[in-house]
Amino acid sequence: MKKTNGKTPILLKIVPFLIMAAAIVFLYHTVSIGEQSETSSEVQSDEVTVDSVTSLAGDLGSQTQADATPTPTPKPKSTPTPTPTPVDEDLLLRQSVDDISTHDLAGYLSEMPAEGEDIVSTATEVYTYEQMVKDIYFLSQRYPDLFDTNILATTVDGRAIYEIIIGNQRSSHHVLIQYSIHAREYINTLLAMCQLEDYLKNMTAGASYGDKTYPDLFSGICIHLIPNSNPDGIAISQFGEAGLRTQGAKDTLKACYEFDQASGRATDFETYCRRFKANANGVDLNKNFDVGWDIYAGGPTQPSYEGYHGTAPESEAETKAILSVTDTYPVIAVISYHSEGDVIFWNYELEDEQLLAFDQQLADNLAQITGYTKRISKKYNASLSGGCSDYYVWVEGRIALTIETGEDTCPIRINVFPNIWRDNQFVLPMLASLYGVTE
Ligand SMILES: [Zn+2]
Repeated sequence: MKKTNGKTPILLKIVPFLIMAAAIVFLYHTVSIGEQSETSSEVQSDEVTVDSVTSLAGDLGSQTQADATPTPTPKPKSTPTPTPTPVDEDLLLRQSVDDISTHDLAGYLSEMPAEGEDIVSTATEVYTYEQMVKDIYFLSQRYPDLFDTNILATTVDGRAIYEIIIGNQRSSHHVLIQYSIHAREYINTLLAMCQLEDYLKNMTAGASYGDKTYPDLFSGICIHLIPNSNPDGIAISQFGEAGLRTQGAKDTLKACYEFDQASGRATDFETYCRRFKANANGVDLNKNFDVGWDIYAGGPTQPSYEGYHGTAPESEAETKAILSVTDTYPVIAVISYHSEGDVIFWNYELEDEQLLAFDQQLADNLAQITGYTKRISKKYNASLSGGCSDYYVWVEGRIALTIETGEDTCPIRINVFPNIWRDNQFVLPMLASLYGVTE
């Protein structure tokens, strides 16, 4: 109920504000975009111009004033009522795993980088889940009270799904960014952590973005980051079978490999693991959302390294973790970070013109600061459905899109990261200047 009730007032409420925000972003780009122009000019995108952002705002404004058409009500979800189980044996098993999230993290403080050094290191080829957990703790020690941490779920192989909350939690405007839902795209977890540390440094220094200081900018918005949406799958991609802790997950991985090998989808086991996209249940989490799930016929019908949509929509703990954020807060926009291609997928062939205009506004602004090329994503269909962004735009009526970082083959090598960082460093402050509100 919360999903359907929350949507219409949020979108209607933000219309006048977005016009102002687009004007502010336009002014900022006009004045300060010189710093970004080197990046932007690398991609000759004929659809992305500063003019297109302002003219969109103009169109949106006149359309909204002349014609107060309400946004359509989101379509009802088709999920059947789940049958409650008295005791979740699987959950008990998962919680018995010795996971770093259950440790007294103060015991790792001797590993914390010295004052003046960055906590999140971009020097190693593989940024692990364990390092991320330590870094979140170290950042909380160096920057107390500047962010909150929440564990949204525990995975089948016993890892925690972390949510980081920055900005003003009392704001009526929240944004959700989820990273690395596909295992082999784990470079984006490092990106999330660098964006977080950069934000914390700028907040502490009182740095400016455009004509506002970070504390001012982020007083009007709350941003939720899920830096690692698929920690089990990432452990497989980074370390193969040795990355798994439970026998059940190891057995599932072997079964996936045998099935994929028999159907010509796998060669050697090492390459197979490195290219893993699914979670430890062999479910492709970006096909597990409840949008076109029932009509999906584009992938394997059993657990696999990619493309299997699960036994039911939202069957996976990781999917539920993402949904729990939008069930809890008034989230107006959802961004999903994937790899690869330096591309922004938006549009989804939406029929709701107002939502489509908002989606374009976000895509235009992101293309402007990242230099990435905008591409139109088609409406979900039998061969492509169950995706996170598709779900949020089509079912919940929220603004949503997908960013594909890096020009390389996944897993993206660490020497490509400087380009990803250059292009995505300012995404958080841009979102704050676009969606932040004075209340
Ligand atoms: Zn992906």
